[in-house]
Amino acid sequence: MQLKEVLDRTHIVSIPTKTNFRGVQFREIALIEGDTNWGEFSPFLEYDAKAAKNWLKSAIESAVTPFQSNGLDFIAVNATLPAVEIEQVAEVLSWFPGCNTVKIKVGTKEDLERIREVFRINAEAQIRLDANGLWSVSEAKMFLESLNKEFGSSLEYVEQPCQTLAENKKLKNELTFPLKIAIDENLRKVRKVRKVRKEGNLNEILEVADLLIIKVAPLGGISSCLQLIEKVDIPVVVSSALESSVGISAGVALAAQLSKKNQSPLPFGLGTVALLEGDVVSNPLLPVDGKIKVEKANVELDKLKRYSVSDSRKKWWHQRITDIYNLGSL
Ligand SMILES: [Mg+2]
Repeated sequence: MQLKEVLDRTHIVSIPTKTNFRGVQFREIALIEGDTNWGEFSPFLEYDAKAAKNWLKSAIESAVTPFQSNGLDFIAVNATLPAVEIEQVAEVLSWFPGCNTVKIKVGTKEDLERIREVFRINAEAQIRLDANGLWSVSEAKMFLESLNKEFGSSLEYVEQPCQTLAENKKLKNELTFPLKIAIDENLRKVRKVRKVRKEGNLNEILEVADLLIIKVAPLGGISSCLQLIEKVDIPVVVSSALESSVGISAGVALAAQLSKKNQSPLPFGLGTVALLEGDVVSNPLLPVDGKIKVEKANVELDKLKRYSVSDSRKKWWHQRITDIYNLGSL
């Protein structure tokens, strides 16, 4: 798509979130209308043009590529529990009916209380922790060792416990019990997937990672993710970045192509439309019975209107898209 066409076909919306998710209370999203599908461009507002470039590449790819279900009707998803107050845990979990696996954001003072609350509500829960790299090696070690004593096999994996790959490797070597480590930021902050492959960084990541967290937009789109996934033989968990159903549908299309790759079906991190107050489609991809539908998002024009933004925000987004487009090689 040429820049003018991208801008002409872009609609900007702002959707309130139900909880404060990484400090975000409104999600501003640019939606690009293609001939057969839509693409979502929603890098967080503080990302600069370089950091947001993959997101635009992904959005344009989705807008011009027909949705593919790979013959699947549903995929399993986990519940996602942001760092909310203890009193709000039950309410948040109720937004994810049937999701027995709960991904819990950690790295705050109340982590243990929040985890205990999850097990008080569902004693059978499987939990995934996501620290977003906030722990030091010793903090991670101390917390995870004590958690293992309390909850043992209910702990499925820990995602990005520490910031650097070297720290995560050290943690892996020092833990006295087997715990899977999922790598997210160390993979996606390498801006070019091509660079991950060429420079051998992927091998270093694979020395540490037992699973990879794959997010379609920050990795530059479905085809780019598939090229990366082809190179690895560990399980991958396709996850979201708090997108509307348009962005989630791209994740779902990727997840649907992985049904044979993950030896045992893993719930994906794609249930997060449940954390938004609204959506732009007639068929929100919300969890039901622990699953979401594998289907194209049907955008409704009146919803685009309902959540539309001021002219000055539109202008800001058009400038953002223009700046990124002008970086070239989209
Ligand atoms: Mg993560």
